[in-house]
Amino acid sequence: MSPSEIPFRPSLAPAETSEHRYIHVVQTKVFIDDRPADDGWERHFLGMHGEVACWGIDVPHGEDPGYGAETDLYSLFGRVDSTEWAVAGRAVQLIEWARTHKFCGRCGEPTVMAQNDRAYQCPACRLMQFPRLSPAIITLVTRGEGDAQQALLARGVNFPMPLYSCLAGFVEPGENLEQAVVREVEEEVGIVVNNIEYVASQPWPFPNSLMLGFRAQYVSGDIVCDTTEIADANWYTREELPMIPGAISIARRLIDDWLLQR
Ligand SMILES: [Zn+2]
Repeated sequence: MSPSEIPFRPSLAPAETSEHRYIHVVQTKVFIDDRPADDGWERHFLGMHGEVACWGIDVPHGEDPGYGAETDLYSLFGRVDSTEWAVAGRAVQLIEWARTHKFCGRCGEPTVMAQNDRAYQCPACRLMQFPRLSPAIITLVTRGEGDAQQALLARGVNFPMPLYSCLAGFVEPGENLEQAVVREVEEEVGIVVNNIEYVASQPWPFPNSLMLGFRAQYVSGDIVCDTTEIADANWYTREELPMIPGAISIARRLIDDWLLQR
């Protein structure tokens, strides 16, 4: 975040203000306007972006308030500042959560909005359903030192372009973040790592992840790809990098930090 950006504060209800921003969520795309396209559509307060009250609006299926001007979050990146992008991602995540928690997961009753929490509550069995965040680790593994140091970059089987990135995976219940790093690297490329260090995190609203970025050091093993997830993986020096992800991804931050490090 640049110092000039206005901070966003998540909250349940708006502060006194005359400024509002409405993030219409059309399936998983957004159309942002300073007034709601339809007062009858369900809305969820997101929080205050400086003096501006931000709302997410659940656009009913088949409606098109922007007349085709809605954009997906990938395309929005870089066209608004990083805080505005994160707020749009929050809108998509919360609206998608609202759409999928209308009934109790335990007893099937229709749920209602809880009073003082961001939660849907079951009036019959009292189950509270909070917005779901799925933590995922992403790791840049290095081996060696100085100019000869290499980083392990891999091409996922589902990547739309032939680019190489850091290794990533979801944290399992019962696991801590360091254990998730060690396990994911071992599972995906057969490498043992240690000296795991946290670098930075990033909300990743595709659909509801929180990416936690790490560095790790090579200990032992040869690359053996899990071909269900990884098409190819190699060690690269700073001089011979393949195509790497764009600035939207924390993978790029991890790689850029490494490039600047020598
Ligand atoms: Zn229930």
